[in-house]
Amino acid sequence: MLPIHGLVTPAAQAGLAEAEAGLVAAISAAEGHIPGAAPNDAVIVGYARFLAGYDDFLTAIGAYLPLRCGAGCGACCRDNPRGVTGVELWWLRRSVDADPDGPRRLAAAKVLAARWSRVLASTGGDAALAQRLAAQDGLPCPLLDEAERCAHYAARPIACRAFVAFTEPALCDPRHPEHHEAVQPQLEPGPDLRALLVELSARLGLGGLPDDLRSGLGAVGKL
Ligand code: SF4
Ligand code: SF4
Repeated sequence: MLPIHGLVTPAAQAGLAEAEAGLVAAISAAEGHIPGAAPNDAVIVGYARFLAGYDDFLTAIGAYLPLRCGAGCGACCRDNPRGVTGVELWWLRRSVDADPDGPRRLAAAKVLAARWSRVLASTGGDAALAQRLAAQDGLPCPLLDEAERCAHYAARPIACRAFVAFTEPALCDPRHPEHHEAVQPQLEPGPDLRALLVELSARLGLGGLPDDLRSGLGAVGKL
């Protein structure tokens, strides 16, 4: 992982603080949440504040990094991101439910999730190895559109937001013969925000979902 804390400028710090404040507010608003019920408006406002702050953080540190990422650049979306929390899956599902093409995308997620389960079982439960093997299939994320853009970009999870490359985008494709040359740091916000995401997920009754994007999206129900 890139030691991003060395790049945490005042603007980046402000973004992180805003992200944290949003999650803390959402957690407070989720107190007494009834599992299976739709999260209240204050949870939605808090989570949106978290994402806006986190994006500000990425923009601020991105100014110092030689990022190659851009619109229509979807080689990395042949991967199945892991470490996705329940609240992130709910937020994504909420976006997909408003998409006329949502039912097809959810059906595709379930097919890919079944495939992922088989690969994971073949590795004896080694998720990191399963992720490398599954990526060799080159199958796109069910949310990737025909123009190689994320159809739910504004709602994508942190694992997608934090995944960037310093090298030629083509190298991001796991099937590229020089993929091993790709420099792809994860701009993770650190354990504090992740712990808050886990806590918010638990408060919303979303703590038991699979943490890979394909399985999680196939499993998360409509709230
Ligand atoms: S990680 Fe690679 S494929 Fe993904 S947006 Fe960045 S450069 Fe493009
Ligand atoms: S959610 Fe969007 S950004 Fe993430 S892998 Fe899928 S298409 Fe790519």
